[in-house]
This record gives sequence, C-alpha cells and structure tokens, in this order.
Amino acid sequence: MNSSCLSQLPIEQRQYTLLNPGPVNVHNSVRAALSGPDICHREVDFFQLLRLTRDKIVNVCNGTSDYAAVILTGSGTAALESALISIVPKEGKILVLDNGSYGERISKIAASCSIPFKHLKFGWAKSFDLIQIRNILEFDPTISAIGMVHHETSTGMLNPLNTIGSIAKEYNKELVVDAISSLGGEGLNIVTDNVTWCIGSSNKCIEGTPGLSFICASHKVFKDLTNRPRRGFYLDLGAHYNSQYIKESPLFTPSVQTFYAFERALQILIDEGVKNRNLRYQRHANRIRSVLKSLGFKFLISEKDMSCALTVVYLPKGITYQQLHDDLKKRGFIIYTGQDDPNPVFRLATIGQLTDSDIEKFLYSFQESITFINKNL
Ligand SMILES: *Cc1c(COP(=O)(O)O)cnc(C)c1O
Repeated sequence: MNSSCLSQLPIEQRQYTLLNPGPVNVHNSVRAALSGPDICHREVDFFQLLRLTRDKIVNVCNGTSDYAAVILTGSGTAALESALISIVPKEGKILVLDNGSYGERISKIAASCSIPFKHLKFGWAKSFDLIQIRNILEFDPTISAIGMVHHETSTGMLNPLNTIGSIAKEYNKELVVDAISSLGGEGLNIVTDNVTWCIGSSNKCIEGTPGLSFICASHKVFKDLTNRPRRGFYLDLGAHYNSQYIKESPLFTPSVQTFYAFERALQILIDEGVKNRNLRYQRHANRIRSVLKSLGFKFLISEKDMSCALTVVYLPKGITYQQLHDDLKKRGFIIYTGQDDPNPVFRLATIGQLTDSDIEKFLYSFQESITFINKNL
C-alpha cells in the first residue's frame, strides 16, 4: 500500500492492531478530532482548548485546584527533559532510581544537560532496594529530588510509587515521576502518592495521538521555578508555566490539531474512569498471560510485579524476533522488540482501544504464526 492510499483509509478502518507500548489504536472520535477547524494559537479559541485539556490532565492525576498542568508539543521525553533541566536548584542534586532503560534514560538526560545527579542502579528488572535509597538520602543532604519511573516499559515492572512517595515526604525531597506509560492505566494520585512533578504523554494509556506531553505539579512549585537555574530555552518549564498560566498563551507554536485529539481522549478516559480502564487492560493482560503460559512461554519478571499495560516474554528457542514480528505483521498485528534487554524477549502491550475480540484474534494468530514458523524452519 503506498502512502497516498494510507491517507485515504476511512476513519473507522484499522490497518494494524497495535500491541507495541504506544502509540496505540485510538478511538475513532479521537482520530476524527484531528481534522478539527483551523484556529490561531494566540486566539481565545485555542486558550479554551488549552484550558479544557490541562484541567482534564489535572483531573486524571487526581490533583486539586492547587494543581496545574503545563502541556508541551513533543513526545514524553520532551516533558521529562523539561522537568529535569528546570527543577534542580543551584546546590541541589537528583537521585535517579534505575531498574531498566527508562530509569537509565533519566540519568542520561541529567548527564547530557549537566544536571547534578546520583545514579542508583538496582540492575535490570530488579526491584528497588528501599534500604539503599534511605541510606543515600540519610547521608547526602545535597539531594533535592528523587527521580523514578512508575511503569518501567523496558521490563514491564510497576515500581512502588506510593512507597517512594512516602520516603520522599519523610526526607522532604521532591519526587519526579515518569508516569508516561502508566498514567491513565494504573492508579496514580498526585496528592496522596506525594508526587511533586508528574510527567505524562498523550499517546500511551491516555489513548491520544502522539505529539503532546505534560508536567503536572502544584502552582506553588511551578512558581518556585523562578528561583532555580535556567538550563534551557525551548524546554524551560518555568517560562512555559508563566506563558500558559499567566499570559494564557503558549510560549511557542503548539500542535493545535493534536490538542483536539488529546482533549477528546482525556474525556473518553474520564468517562471510562481510570479504575475501569485498569480492569480492561488487566483482563487483556491476564488472558494473554494465561494462554502464553499454557503454551509453555516464560516471562521476564514475576506476574505480581507486572503492570496491566505490558508483558515481556522470552522468545521460544529457534525463533527470532524478526521472524515472529514479520509473520504477525502479515496477519495484522504489531508486536514489539525488547529494549536494551540482554535477554531474547519480545513485548506485548495491552493498551489502547483493544477489545476482548482483538485479544482473542491475536492469540489465535499468534499460535498460527508459531506453528507456521516452526513448520518452515
Ligand atoms: C514511552 C516512554 C517514554 C517517552 O518516550 P518517547 O519516545 O519520548 O515518547 C518515557 N518513559 C517511559 C517509561 C515510556 O514508556
């Protein structure tokens, strides 16, 4: 199919069922929203859209009226970098908790932007060691913030947000959370989980189209950014906050059409409820896990540590990822490779507008695919 044909697919037609961890299959009304009216980003029309969108983000984070959300045009990493370069005070330092690729990414951003940080590596797919975390906080008073990933998308592990939140509160540290692949699918309460800076993006469990990311935090900490060093221009979080909240005008040109789709996706999430979305994802993940187990497949981590969003599975002996991927793609399903993983694994995400029937069709195709590949070896 050539690219001009692709753009002519009717809105309700799905070419692939996406089992990669975002971008996801979106609701038809989300895709349709992309063709909303042409508006100027410095007119009241856009401010209304911005206001609606940010209020819904605060709602999804369980924030109160003391909370704000700054929205950036750019994928999740843009919001993450914006937070990291903006929140660390002159004499401060960030303690990075790393048990996978995305934990490591926090340290890579800090290193490349010359942000002082302490890199605490637990090892690939290993749980956080709370005693080690406490020891560092006890002995290094220059640490001003803790950085962690809620759902580590490279391993599928859901890290203990509430526990780290309590530790952060106890030691009076800010907590920066990469909730990019959890928010909307896993429970997160910015207030009771003591999250200072919550980072998310449009195209994972919120089920919008890719292109927008955000930072949710209290007005109080956003206002305090003026007292901290500015280490960037385009991603200067304090400048974006002032522009979006005080001037009510975006700092630079935002992806206006993506806002239409994102606002729609947030409303669908609010209508469905995070709890119900979590149950839907969990049901799909449980179904995939139980069928794969019965077929003899093994998982990277124990089921009790997994999020509802993702399952990381060892490849069967004698089958390469490329073979499995290519054969499933022909059948209409996109699976995902391991990320920096030392093990031969593949990833199956259960996020997006997937139905029970999509999961059953996938499991049927998956078994056909394995049989087909084995026969043709
Ligand atoms: C997807 C993801 C990101 C952001 O990746 P982008 O390519 O910038 O969208 C960051 N952290 C986690 C945990 C993710 O899953």
